[in-house]
Order: sequence, then structure tokens, then C-alpha cells
Amino acid sequence: MTPPAPSNSDVVVVGGGHNGLAAAAYLGRAGYSVTVLEQAPAVGGAAVSAQAFEGIDARLSRYSYLVSLMPRSIREDLGLDISLIRRRYSSYTPVPGTDRGLLIDAEDAERTKASFEAIGAGDDYMRWLDFYRDTQVIAASLFPTMTEPMMTKAEFRRLLDLASPGRNLYGRFIETPIVTLVNETFENDIVRGVVLTDALIGTFPDGDDDSAMRACFLYHVIGGGTGDWDVPTGGMGSVSSALERAAREAGATIVTGAHVTSIGDDSVVNFSQDGQQFSTQARLVISGASRRTVYELAGKSFPERDIEGAQVKVNLMLTRLPQLADTTVTAEEAFGGTFHINESGTQLASAIAQAQSGNIPDVIPCEIYCHTLSDRSILGPELQNTEAHTLTVFALNVPHSLIADRDPDEVREDLQARVLRSLNSVLAEPIEDCVMQDASGKPCIETKTTIDLENALGLPGGNIFHQPLTLPYIPDEVTINTPATKWGVNSGLPHILLAGASAVRGGGVSALGGHNAAMAALEILREG
Ligand SMILES: Cc1cc2nc3c(=O)[nH]c(=O)nc-3n(C[C@H](O)[C@H](O)[C@H](O)COP(=O)(O)OP(=O)(O)OC[C@H]3O[C@@H](n4cnc5c(N)ncnc54)[C@H](O)[C@@H]3O)c2cc1C
Repeated sequence: MTPPAPSNSDVVVVGGGHNGLAAAAYLGRAGYSVTVLEQAPAVGGAAVSAQAFEGIDARLSRYSYLVSLMPRSIREDLGLDISLIRRRYSSYTPVPGTDRGLLIDAEDAERTKASFEAIGAGDDYMRWLDFYRDTQVIAASLFPTMTEPMMTKAEFRRLLDLASPGRNLYGRFIETPIVTLVNETFENDIVRGVVLTDALIGTFPDGDDDSAMRACFLYHVIGGGTGDWDVPTGGMGSVSSALERAAREAGATIVTGAHVTSIGDDSVVNFSQDGQQFSTQARLVISGASRRTVYELAGKSFPERDIEGAQVKVNLMLTRLPQLADTTVTAEEAFGGTFHINESGTQLASAIAQAQSGNIPDVIPCEIYCHTLSDRSILGPELQNTEAHTLTVFALNVPHSLIADRDPDEVREDLQARVLRSLNSVLAEPIEDCVMQDASGKPCIETKTTIDLENALGLPGGNIFHQPLTLPYIPDEVTINTPATKWGVNSGLPHILLAGASAVRGGGVSALGGHNAAMAALEILREG
């Protein structure tokens, strides 16, 4: 039974995603009264686990699945019991139309080198090492600053220039269009694609402006100071549960099923629950919901143009892993890291061009991850002793605008069929032969389009980061005159801070938005 919301609090947090919970935990620990209002029956937002299939005892990470960007310092500050599993295989990428692929084995440099040579990319191997040595330097110098006040652009540039003098890290990784950087660095089409996908997760080029792609790439290579993407033990729900526990232990009141309907200029927050209307007064409002939602709730017109996501997520429950066309790797190796499908540089460019001209790509590029190869604790005891596995497909280059006006059920079915066709193109047998059936005999396949994400989570246009990502510095034209600007949590409305993914460094499962909003809030509340 969810507690009633108090009539007033120091801080009201709108939205109990993992970032809203992190903000609540920090502020509660600092002695402030905090109320979190979450519209869904449970907290966690896009960082949740769910029993997705009727009668199947498996709790899948329903939306987000890997953790990279959550700093150890936040886990320690809040005493979060979160364990992360490092994966041995970074990625496997079949070469389309052949029975060979590129395997990146983080523990076997010789095998990785041989794999580059086997697909005709031997010359790119040393370039690959150099390139990722550079991203490691960026990660090591930049990531620790994510929990500090924002840098100006000049400070940011200086940090990267000093990190590796002579390597032009800022010019190459921050200012150069990402496709140009990748094409100038690598020759092989598969290698180019593997590198480029990090710029395309949840992102789509906006005409000639690729700044969100560059930011997306940067955030994909700096996490934890190494750029590793780890599997959360127990699934993504365990991350949000740990934050929920921390917030409650810090004294926060968490109210679920509470849909915020408006935020007044006087920081009165109105919400509906079980068909009734309530109000609660805050000294300060923090939003874990998107920036666009903040504007809607405040009754202001959103100053930017439409926001959209561009991905399809497909969750599957398998009786066993499928056989691959490539017999030189095992399915456990190929699915042990990120399995790229139809993601060569040429295929990505072609899919982007098709989508930009208004068509869903013929061949949808996608990538797959298998949670249960790293962590079987998400399966019930009976399934643990079988060959059952979960599989998560994240498909790219399907902008929301291409599907927004279509019937949600019909478009979901269409995209699911296209994604499975793309997957099947690199397998030795149809994936359908390996799919488990639920208690009603239905195939265990769950597909989430951008329409579904907007409806279920309030993600604008299904954008997984709430809005296009931006680089982690304060632009020259912005004056740093408020705690909100200083910490990158400025909503644009004076009485509301952003804690969620819309905060400058808030995208992904990182708790950074929550941490940074709490730091800004502390400065404001202490000033009185
Ligand atoms: C399919 C998918 C895959 C992803 N994969 C990864 C991944 O592997 N790794 C990674 O790091 N990131 C991933 N991401 C991105 C990441 O999940 C999000 O950026 C992150 O979870 C955002 O957290 P948040 O707390 O800022 O916001 P959200 O999780 O969006 O939470 C916002 C909360 O606000 C609530 N809310 C909204 N409006 C209202 C209202 N009016 N009243 C009350 N409550 C409201 C929502 O219900 C929600 O609970 C993925 C996202 C998706 C969708």
C-alpha cells in the first residue's frame, strides 16, 4: 500500500525513475523532506525488470540492460548493493553474406588479431588498438568530472588537450563528425560499423547535425573511466531497487500510481491518484520526468522542436541459443558480448539514408545481448538448470516519425517481423525454432516500439534519453549564474530542476542526473 503524499515537503520529485530516486536519496540523507511522485505502479522507469511472459519464471531487464555510466562514488555514497559483471567478449559481428565474423575477445589479444585478419581487416587491428587507447585516455580523465560542476567548453577542451598532448583528442573525438572520424581512421567496412554503432544507440542524425551522435559516442566510451558495459546481477530492476531502498532509508516518501498533472509557478504540484486529485507544496521541484514533460506540466510551450527516438526493442525467451552460420565461434562466445547484426558501415549508412527519405530500412541494423550467459539469477530455479536463455535485441534507425501515425499493434508486429528477419540473416536456423512458448502456447517475444515507450514511460517520441544527448560542457553563450546551470540540471524554468535523462549528463542508467540535481538543490536549499 503506497503511503499518502504529505501536504508539503522541502522537495517534490516528479517521476520515480532511477535518477529521481537517486536525487531523493541524496536529499533525504542531507536531512531534507522529500516526496517522490511516480505515475506507474512501481518505480524504476526505464530501468526495471519484469516477468514478461505468462507462466515463465524469468525476470528480464525490460528496457535498459547494461550499466556503464554509474560512478562507483554514487554507489558508495548511497550504500547501493549493486553488483556488475564484466563480460569477456566485447563484441561479435558477422560479415554479411559470409560465414565469418569479427570477434573481439578482451582476454585474448592474439585471437582478436587473428579475427581481424580472417575477415580481411588485419590492417585495422593496430588502428583499433590506437583508437581505443585514445578513448581510454578520454574516459580516465573525463569520467571523474561527471559528478563535479560542469566545465566550460574551454575547460573541457583543456582537459582533453592535457590528457594526451599531441593526440588532438578534442579535435578528433569532439569536433569531427563521427562518420568522418571513423571513416578516416578505419578501412574495413565491418570495423567501421562496429565502432559507429556506439554513436547510434537511441540516436538518429538530425539532417547534417551529428552533435547528438558525437555525444552518444562519447558517453558510450567513457563509462566507469574505462568504457566497459557491464551486466547488472539480477537484472536492471536490481539497480532501481537498490536506489529505491536508499531513498526510503533516507526518509523519502515514495508515492506510486501518482500521475502529476501540473506544476504551479508557486511549486504546488498537483497529481491524480486512484481517480482523485491531490496537491502537495514543495520548496523546490525536481523532475525525473523528461524536460518536455516539465514544460507540459508547467503549462509552458516547449521551446524546441519535436523529439523522437529511433529504436525498436525485442525481448525473447529461448529454449536454447541458436546455431550460427559461423562455425569458428560458439554461440556462447558470439552472444557473450554485443552481437552486431547488419551493422557494417555501409549497411548503417544505407539504413540511415532510407529512414531519412521516409522509409523503414529494408534491413534493420540491430544488436543483441544475452543476459543469462553472464547471470542466470534472473531465471527461476527450474529454468536455471536448462539451456534456456534470454535475448534482447536493440534495433536501430527506425525514427518515431516513420511510425507515429500508424496503428500501434500493426506497427509493432511489422517491426518485430523485420527485426527477426534481420537476426535470422546471420543464423544457421530460424530464431523462431529456439523461442520458448508461454503458458498459453504463445511465443515468448515482446516488442517495444517508440510508440510503446512513449505510452508506458512518457519518453518523448520514445527517445531513450528523453531528448537528444548533448556534450558535457557549458556552451560559451550560457552564463553560469545559478546552481542549476553550474550542475547541468537547468530545465529552463526557474522553479524546476532536472534530475532525469534530460539533464546535461543524465542519459543512460547512471544516476548522474539525480546526483547532480541533488547537488544543485542542496546549494539552493542551503541558501534558503
Ligand atoms: C529500450 C531501452 C533500452 C535502453 N538501454 C540502456 C542500457 O542498456 N544502458 C543504459 O545505460 N541506458 C539504457 N537506456 C537508457 C536509460 O534506460 C534511460 O536513459 C534511463 O533509465 C533514464 O532514467 P531516468 O530516471 O532519467 O528516467 P526514466 O527512467 O524515464 O524515468 C522517468 C519516470 O518519470 C515517470 N513520469 C513521467 N511523467 C510523469 C508524471 N506526469 N507523473 C509522475 N511520474 C511521471 C515515468 O513513469 C518514469 O518512471 C535504455 C532505454 C530504453 C528505453
